[in-house]
This record gives sequence, structure tokens and C-alpha cells, in this order.
Amino acid sequence: MRDTFLPYGHQWIDEADERAVLEALRADRITTGEKVLEFEQAVASYCGASYGVAVSSGTAALHAACTVAGISEGDEVITTPITFFATVAAIMHCGGTPVLADVRPDTVNIDPIEIRRKVTNKTKAIIPVDFAGHPVDFDEVNHIAEENNLVVIEDACHALGASYQGKKVGSWSDMTIFSFHPVKSITTGEGGMVLTDDREYYSRLLRFRNHNIERGSDPWLYNVDSAGYNYRLSDVQCALGLSQLRKLDTFIARRREITGLYDVAFAEIESIGTPTEMPYVLSAYHLYVIRLAGVDRDKFIREMLENNIGVQVHYAPVHYHSALSGRGYQRGDFPAAEAYYSQAVSLPIFPRMTDDDVGDVIYEVERVARKWRL
Ligand SMILES: *Cc1c(COP(=O)(O)O)cnc(C)c1O
Repeated sequence: MRDTFLPYGHQWIDEADERAVLEALRADRITTGEKVLEFEQAVASYCGASYGVAVSSGTAALHAACTVAGISEGDEVITTPITFFATVAAIMHCGGTPVLADVRPDTVNIDPIEIRRKVTNKTKAIIPVDFAGHPVDFDEVNHIAEENNLVVIEDACHALGASYQGKKVGSWSDMTIFSFHPVKSITTGEGGMVLTDDREYYSRLLRFRNHNIERGSDPWLYNVDSAGYNYRLSDVQCALGLSQLRKLDTFIARRREITGLYDVAFAEIESIGTPTEMPYVLSAYHLYVIRLAGVDRDKFIREMLENNIGVQVHYAPVHYHSALSGRGYQRGDFPAAEAYYSQAVSLPIFPRMTDDDVGDVIYEVERVARKWRL
């Protein structure tokens, strides 16, 4: 058994990151200086978008995007039941109604056929989530959005660095959201970003991040047109982000290497299903989720944790949370999402994992799955 706990995700901070942070700390301005814009432009350019707006978290980024898209009381917004609750919370904070559409059983991404079934004349936007780092079916999602005049806000918190038909995530939705939490593709400690090609969204996002302040003609004059927030990200954090971004491609390459080791190890084991990657995408593999068939999932998880392997579950369907009770959802409403959830286990995957770590996980998964066979 391992003598140290192996988490499911973890940052990689090296000396270059430390130097970048130290330099930013010693600069004249430690927040809202030049590093913010530099980081925004670097992420936007990496992804092929025109503008980036750095904010204090992925959750803040979702809230900002929903707000500037004009989501308000009475608007319906279609999203997936398999996501972190922040996706749904952003809709609710704007007064909108989250409308869930079931997932595809293979990629566990929102199913375009289900989106179509949920569109009404009140639908204002779609928030697809690139689950586990695998881009959603963009051609279809965008097609539905165009036909029905809907805004697409892509929650790509798992998918920085992924691509679809050779195009980077961040280059095709009205707005794309990233998180820089330590378990995500790259980190700023806490942080997030909205990418867009739309000038009007861009200027509204900048204002929303900073108390809804509109500058006047003189440097001391400004107007606040509605109660806002401070969602800014500091220069120190953006300096870390810039340094991390230089490593993004090697981080993704290592995640994909680990995926290859897992895929090979589990290929012949009938009770362990491995993730699907469509031939036309390149997943960022934020998560590596196995699906256990004919195994007591909860006992499996407990024993893995006891053996210092930090497995997790991503995610319980959002309608299982009491925050959505009273909205007419019931267990059984989303069969594909619920079947997925009952079998899903996320295995550790992060760039710094060694091949020995991967070997430990494989050994324990095989052993513990055999032990708790039903
Ligand atoms: C991490 C995450 C968020 C929230 O990002 P934070 O930076 O933690 O606020 C939102 N949506 C998804 C899908 C995420 O994985």
C-alpha cells in the first residue's frame, strides 16, 4: 500500500513559476497592472479568440458571462445535469431558470438531440460543458443556437488546451469559460477567464468585473450604473498564469500519456469501462472516469481511499442537490446521466504523477474491483 495519499488532481508549480510570482510581487502594482492584460492576451491568442477577461474564479466567469448575455428573470438556459453546480448557480444568480438536457452515454456531454427537445420560446442560452476535457458536439450545438437565436456560453473549465476538428476550445462559442483552480489544466491558485470575439460582450465583461464602473471624461469621474462586484484577478496571479501557460501543452501531453497507460491496462477487464474520445477531438483529460459494471461502486471507492488512492465522483447529477428541489425535477428524469453517475469513479490524473503512481492506481483498481464484484 502507498504511504502517501495520491489525490485525483494536483497542480505543478516549478521554479520558473516561483520566479514569475516573485517578480510580480516586487513590481510597482501587484494588482490590475500589466500582467492581467498580458495573461488575457496570451490565453486568448493560444485559444484563437479575440478577447480575454480574467476574473477571480471560474464561478465568477460563469456569473459574468450569464450577466452580460442578458440572462434574467423568466429566461430559460439549457445545460447538462453532469457538471459542477457552479454552472447551474450562475444561471440562478441571474434569475434565469436552469433547464436540464440529458447527456450522451458515451462522452457524457450534453446530447444535442436532448437540447432540441428542451428549446422553447423562453430559451435564451445554452451552457454546454466540455465534460472531463472532451469538447461537446460543437457543430450541432452551434447549429441549434443559430436556428433559435441562442447565446452559447461554453463551460470549458475542464477543457483548456483541448481541440475539436483541429480548432482549440475557446474559438467557437459566443463566450468560453475557464477556471484556473489548482486541479484544472493550469492554475493561478484561484482564477478564471471569459473568452469572446464580441467587442460589446468584452466591454461589458470588463465593467462587470470592476463594480460596473463606467469611466467619465475626467480621471476622477465615474458612474456606477448598477450594483456590481469585485471579480478582479491580481497581477501576481496572472504572472503565475503566464508562466503556467508556457507548460500547458506539456501538461496535456502528460495527461494523455497517463490516459494511454490506463486505457491499455483496463482494456481487457470487462467490469471496467474506460472513457470515450471521439476521433475528431483531442481531449484535455482533466478527468479520467472509469465506469464500473457489476461492482459495488461505493465499497470500491471506500477501499480505494483507505489505500491512499484519491478517487472521486464527478458528478452527482445536479438535480439531486436540494438547491434545485421544488423545480419539478425527480430522480429518473435523466436516465443517461443517472446511469453514468451510479457507475462513475474518477481516477487520479495530473501531469506530475509518475509512472509508478499510475502503476499503483492500476494495481489497486484491478484488485479492489475484483474484490467487490457483485
Ligand atoms: C471548476 C469548475 C467550475 C468552477 O470553477 P472555480 O474556479 O472553482 O470557481 C465551473 N464549472 C466546472 C465544470 C468546473 O469544473
